[in-house]
Amino acid sequence: MVALSEVVSDRSVNRKPHLLIVEDEPAIRTGLVDVFVYHGYQVDAAVDGQEGLQKALSGRYDLILLDVMLPHLNGFEVCERIRSQDRSQPIVMLTAKSADEDIIQGLSLGADDYVAKPFSVAQLVLRVQAVLRRCGVGVEQERLIRLGGEVEIDTRNLSGSRQGAPLAFTRREMDVLLYLHANRDHAVPREELLAKVWGYGRNLDIETRTVDIHVAKLRRKIEPAPAEPRYLVTVRGAGYRLLID
Ligand code: CA
Repeated sequence: MVALSEVVSDRSVNRKPHLLIVEDEPAIRTGLVDVFVYHGYQVDAAVDGQEGLQKALSGRYDLILLDVMLPHLNGFEVCERIRSQDRSQPIVMLTAKSADEDIIQGLSLGADDYVAKPFSVAQLVLRVQAVLRRCGVGVEQERLIRLGGEVEIDTRNLSGSRQGAPLAFTRREMDVLLYLHANRDHAVPREELLAKVWGYGRNLDIETRTVDIHVAKLRRKIEPAPAEPRYLVTVRGAGYRLLID
């Protein structure tokens, strides 16, 4: 069991998107790292499929940029193994030049998008941004979140009101709210909240109870009847979901 205070870093939902680049060719790998750092990303790299898979499964990355032609494990195998453990991890594949069967295989294995080599760097950056936007990462955050006409939350000032009574939130509580709000079309598993809001890798032995404690605190603030939540609801077996009306 790792003490929370030892591993908590001050990562918020508005942090730099965290990218993992898996590419064996040094020149391309270095070039991609430079490009994405320049565009404001936090970037890690892996030099082969084995290392890529290991890092990808840590759950720390907002998106994996995955080359197909890799030593040890190829990109398809890496994609398939990531998907068998994590269905929501965004993956963009770098396929061989316009090889249709590569593209079809990559997408059928669960990649979110692909870019064919040789690629235009500008296009690649746009595709990565588009996938992250679909996943609710790096999106311009909502200034105000309204719940059912009785709760108003000012996300930038960590404040709000419920039926006219003032509310105050911690940064972490607000990050949980923002993440649930960006993903409000579905329930978010506790493990995903730990990875994306707290920045914990999935391999760390951190109890998901940390998430439950924050949810309980949030409910006492935003719910008219915290024991019977109507906005921050539990979806049995799936996680937490924010209902805005
Ligand atoms: Ca390669």
